[in-house]
Amino acid sequence: MSVQTLVDPATGASFAEVAASSLAETDAAVARAVVAQRSWAAESPLGRASALRRFAAVVRDHVDELARLEVLEAGHPISSAEWEAEHVAQVLDYSAGAPERLSGQQIPVAGGLDVTFHEPYGVVGVIVPWNFPMTIASWGFAPALAAGNAVVLKPAELTPLTAIRLGELALEAGLPDGLFTVIPGAGPVVGQRFVTHPEVRKVVFTGSTAVGTEVAAGCARELKPVTLELGGKSANIVFADADLEVAAAAVPASVFDNAGQDCCARSRILVQRSVYDRFLGLLEPAVRDWTVGDPNDRGTQMGPLISAAHRDRVASFLDGVDVAFRGSAPTGDGFWFAPTVVLAQPGDRVAREEIFGPVVAVLPFDDEADAIRLANDTVYGLAGSIWTENLGRAVRVSRAVRSGVLSVNSHSSVRYATPFGGMKASGLGRELGPDAAEHFTQTKNVFFAT
Ligand code: NDP
Repeated sequence: MSVQTLVDPATGASFAEVAASSLAETDAAVARAVVAQRSWAAESPLGRASALRRFAAVVRDHVDELARLEVLEAGHPISSAEWEAEHVAQVLDYSAGAPERLSGQQIPVAGGLDVTFHEPYGVVGVIVPWNFPMTIASWGFAPALAAGNAVVLKPAELTPLTAIRLGELALEAGLPDGLFTVIPGAGPVVGQRFVTHPEVRKVVFTGSTAVGTEVAAGCARELKPVTLELGGKSANIVFADADLEVAAAAVPASVFDNAGQDCCARSRILVQRSVYDRFLGLLEPAVRDWTVGDPNDRGTQMGPLISAAHRDRVASFLDGVDVAFRGSAPTGDGFWFAPTVVLAQPGDRVAREEIFGPVVAVLPFDDEADAIRLANDTVYGLAGSIWTENLGRAVRVSRAVRSGVLSVNSHSSVRYATPFGGMKASGLGRELGPDAAEHFTQTKNVFFAT
């Protein structure tokens, strides 16, 4: 039996081992899910809604415990980890509204009555990355369950603990055995089996564009729908007419939150040339004040990177670049990396590839058309921000930037009640928002002849 050794990213010390599931164990979990799903789908809508509300309440009772686990396995600052655990409860509560609202249509036709039903797929496979282990898991499992599916979920090997605990809490809340099963293990074993298993009828994948593309190709061979949340290289566009003080102060959280290990990180700042120097002058103290340190400390804003290998990869982006200034980070054990601001040109690797670390590239632009051109000069299209006091410009630019999730004079991307997802190489399909549960159904049309 193979095991995954878990390492605390803040200290580099190993603290636990988790057994990796085999192919046979994965198949056994899917078989149990098939059985559990039939009874779950036959439950009344109120029954399913009530069960999800109980699950939300049990998660809420365990926010502290879940947050502590996330600090340990992922190095998230404690205040962020608490927000993430509470967010899982909110996603469950919000999804609990879906079973009673998943109404079909009644369509006027000749010779009878025509109605549609939102039928669940059956078993849904959810593949989760290590950067936001709890929240991303909940975006898949909560609406999938609400729509009447069973869920098998594979957490990332580096960060399985909160997902495993959520699986236990589901049982504690009274969800039927086999309905929601967390299966820790290797991507090419457990995750790949979700793709090939004939009884897993939909796959949700969040992670790298490279693996996501392979998952989608595998799902295509099985004619299986897939939702993909992939990488990003989002632009934070600062116009000369913006409130520059507010825009600069907001930068660190927009790109250094979770040490930049965030698909929505605004890792390119496009600044109008006429205010470029002034903006950099305002940015420097904001970056220097960003608190990097012990994730258990309530004052900490940023913890370590996830692993030594990832830190090496992030560091490779600084080879030969023009570093404008850096914040600070602890030295010694743990996978620390100081927030870094780089002056870049559009063709530079640091301005093109997803770094997934606390490194931001700053580029000047001349006018609105130039800003839109640069913002779209990427294979990705996930998030982005537009800073301007000009309403017309805010509307024009937000319509012109090819990204799935934009904010004007803000960096927010994630709310459980609004849709989330990317364009181009950032993904396919949407999660969260009013239609989340419907995405886990297929429409059945029934005609009754009169
Ligand atoms: P991966 O895409 O490799 O991993 C994401 C998930 O997919 C993990 O659970 C992984 O399992 C699983 N997986 C791996 N291979 C397969 C496979 N063949 N079939 C099915 N599932 C599989 O991301 P990494 O963790 O390697 O991160 C690499 C880079 O990807 C990051 O540096 C970042 O740029 C990007 N990324 C983007 C994320 C986002 O939120 N958009 C999230 C994570 C990464 P296992 O744990 O075994 O590897």
